[in-house]
Amino acid sequence: MRLRFGPAGVPIDYKGPIEGIPAHLRSLGLDAMEYEAVHGVRISEAKARKLGEEASANDVVMSLHAPYYVNLASKDKGVFERSVQRVVESLLAAEWMGAEAVVVHSGYYKGHESRESALKRVIEGYREALSRVELRTAKVSPEVMGKGSQVGTLEEAVEICRQVGRCKPCIDWAHLYARSEGKFVVRQEDVIKVLEYVERELGREAVNPLHSHFSKIKYGRGGEREHLTLSEPGGPEWAIVCKTYLELGYSAVTISESPVLERDALVMKGVCEEIKIKGPKG
Ligand SMILES: [Zn+2]
Repeated sequence: MRLRFGPAGVPIDYKGPIEGIPAHLRSLGLDAMEYEAVHGVRISEAKARKLGEEASANDVVMSLHAPYYVNLASKDKGVFERSVQRVVESLLAAEWMGAEAVVVHSGYYKGHESRESALKRVIEGYREALSRVELRTAKVSPEVMGKGSQVGTLEEAVEICRQVGRCKPCIDWAHLYARSEGKFVVRQEDVIKVLEYVERELGREAVNPLHSHFSKIKYGRGGEREHLTLSEPGGPEWAIVCKTYLELGYSAVTISESPVLERDALVMKGVCEEIKIKGPKG
């Protein structure tokens, strides 16, 4: 088993060319990075390949976050087509970088008479995107979302993966916590439930390693408000997640979505190391 940690995007204390980031992360003791294409996939093939080479030379696992402007549930043909195309561009860029997980916000229920009908459309969108590119490494990774208006409960993310094939869910612990308005991801048994459910439904491959996001989070009615640093009050508690990984022997890539990105990735790593020293049962 191996636990990897890294920032969502350019480290806040880093200045320099993007391809220098993996060596910087390694010097800090981090070993993962999510490339943020959240405002559009703009990286050139040459730069993406260079980033991928540097990542592999520095033992940094790459993933990619697709643009926010995706709504695969849309009934509007233009919006749907542009969304599919953005997922395609993300998959291609990930392939150049050697990234497996391509994290996507699937879409919104709005305009659908039922959640099932929105989910069905989203699944069509992913299938269409995957049919347009030939892939060796990249997979779609529907994110578990933080708001009640967004397609992406845990069960929906798993159902998407079951139906589209080249897929592993992105488990965002903060989103699970926010969407439940602070009722879930508060006990170790909640974390166990998630891990066992994903593995039972999708097989070992989907959790080896588990692709995940973590930060603390502020929530209100309807779920997510904003991501917080680990030093702020509130949940979820990182220690219960890490303790569960260690006790059950899971491998996970944990991307820090805290406002202080890599600094909190290091805090998370430190917490896990402390638990290891004390023994997971301690
Ligand atoms: Zn996201």
